[in-house]
Amino acid sequence: MAVQLDERTEAIYQQVAARNPGESEFHQAVREVLESLGPVLAKYPEFAERKIIERICEPERQIIFRVPWQDDKGTVQINRGFRVQFNSALGPYKGGLRFHPSVYLGIIKFLGFEQIFKNALTGMPIGGGKGGSDFDPKGKSDSEIMRFCQSFMIELHHYLGEHTDVPAGDIGVGGREIGYLFGQYKRITNRFESGVLTGKGIGWGGSLARTEATGYGTVFFLREMLKVRKDSLEGKTCVVSGSGNVAIYAIEKLHELGAKVVACSDSNGVIFHEKGIDLDLVKRLKEVERRRIADYATYHKDAKYIASGNIWDIPCQIAVPSATQNEINGKDAKTLVKNGCIAVGEGANMPTTPEGVKVFLDAKIAYGPGKAANAGGVATSALEMQQNAGRDSWTFEFTEKKLDGIMTGIHATAYETSEEFGAAGNYVLGANIAGFIKVARAMVAHGLI
Ligand code: NDP
Repeated sequence: MAVQLDERTEAIYQQVAARNPGESEFHQAVREVLESLGPVLAKYPEFAERKIIERICEPERQIIFRVPWQDDKGTVQINRGFRVQFNSALGPYKGGLRFHPSVYLGIIKFLGFEQIFKNALTGMPIGGGKGGSDFDPKGKSDSEIMRFCQSFMIELHHYLGEHTDVPAGDIGVGGREIGYLFGQYKRITNRFESGVLTGKGIGWGGSLARTEATGYGTVFFLREMLKVRKDSLEGKTCVVSGSGNVAIYAIEKLHELGAKVVACSDSNGVIFHEKGIDLDLVKRLKEVERRRIADYATYHKDAKYIASGNIWDIPCQIAVPSATQNEINGKDAKTLVKNGCIAVGEGANMPTTPEGVKVFLDAKIAYGPGKAANAGGVATSALEMQQNAGRDSWTFEFTEKKLDGIMTGIHATAYETSEEFGAAGNYVLGANIAGFIKVARAMVAHGLI
C-alpha cells in the first residue's frame, strides 16, 4: 500500500505519470520523493509558486542514440544508448553509466532522478544525471566490450565535459569499461581531460578508494545508524546481495568492522557460507576471472549454492541489498524483520519496493535508503574530480577518511532533518527533504530556467 499524497503532490504525481507513460521505475522514484515533500511545500511556499517540484521532475535534457558495433563473428549489432541530464542546479551532471539488457529510458530516468538528491546530500558541487545502454556485457569478449565502448563514446562525447557532464560506472560498467570510454574520448577530442569521467585507473587520473567507496560508504552509514541506537556492527550476522563492485567492498568493510557476512549472490543464485564469505575467493572469481558465484561452492565444500534462491530467506541481523532495483519486496521485508533483521543499508539504488519500505519503517528498524546510504560512490567520484582539477593524487587513507567524514555528515543531515520534520530516525524522509531543499534553493536563485 502506497502512502497517501496530499492534493498538491498527488496532482504533480499524476502529471508525471501521464507525461512519462510506461516508465514504472521512474514513477516509483518520483512518488517516493513526493511522499516526503508535503510539509516542505507548506513551510516554503516559494517552492510551490515557482513550480520547483514540477521542474525537477522534468529532465533538463534527454539523449537517446544508436550504438552500432560488430561482434567477433563480424555480425552487425545495434544497441540503444541513453544519457539523461537531469539537473545541473548544483554542478555539472554527475552519475554513472549502466550496461544491462534491462536498461530503457524509465530505468535511466529513475536513476537520474535519485541521483539529483543523492548528489545534493553529499555536499559536493555536482548535479544529477545517469546513462547507459541495453547492451549486455555478459559473455562478451574483451574486444567486443572495447568496440562497444568506442562506438558508445563516439556519440556520447558531444554531450560530456569536465564542467558539463561527468559519467562514472554502474552495473556492467567498471574499471575496464571506463578505460575504453576514456581512451576513445581522448582520441576523439584530442584532450587529456581527466575530469570528464570518474572511476579511472590509478595510473591515469583515478582516485584511490573510488573502487571501494560505494560499499565502504554504505557500511559507514550503517555504522552511524547503529550508533544512534547505541549498537555497533561488531559480531553481527549479515547478508549482502550481489557480488559486484558494491557488494564486494561492502563485505570487505563489514568484515573489517567485526561483522560476519554469510551470504552473497548473483542473478543466477545464492551462496550461503555459515563460517563467513571468503572474500578473496569472491574477488578472484568476479573481478579477475569474471565467473559466476556458483563456482564458489567448488572451492568450499561447506558452502551451499542455492540456484535461483532468495537471499532474503537467510536469517540475518543486517541486510545490505547491493544488486539492483526492487530486489526486496513486501514479503521479503517481512521475512527479514521476522528473522531478526535490525538494520538495512541500501548499497543498490531503490532495491526495496514501496511495500517493503513500509514494512521496514513500520517495524522501526534502522533503514538507510540508497539515496543516502550509497552516496559514498559519487562523493568519492567528486573527490576524484577535485584531485584531477588540482593535478593531485591523495593516499588511500586520506581519501577513505574524507569518505568516512562525508558519510557521517550525510547521516547527520538526514537524521537531523527527520527530527526537524517530526519523524526522528525516518531516513527516507530526512534524505528526501534535505536533498530537495538544497536543490530547490539553488533553482530559486537561478531564476526560471
Ligand atoms: P556490478 O555490475 O558490479 O554488480 C552487480 C551485481 O548485482 C552482480 O552480482 C549482478 O549479478 C547483480 N545483479 C545485477 N542486476 C541484477 C538483476 N536484475 N537481478 C539479480 N541480480 C542482479 O554493479 P555495481 O555493484 O556497481 O552496482 C550494484 C548496485 O549498486 C546498482 O543498483 C547500482 O545502481 C548501485 N550503485 C552503484 C554504485 C557504484 O559506484 N558502482 C554507486 C551507487 C549505487 P550478475 O552478474 O548475475 O548480473
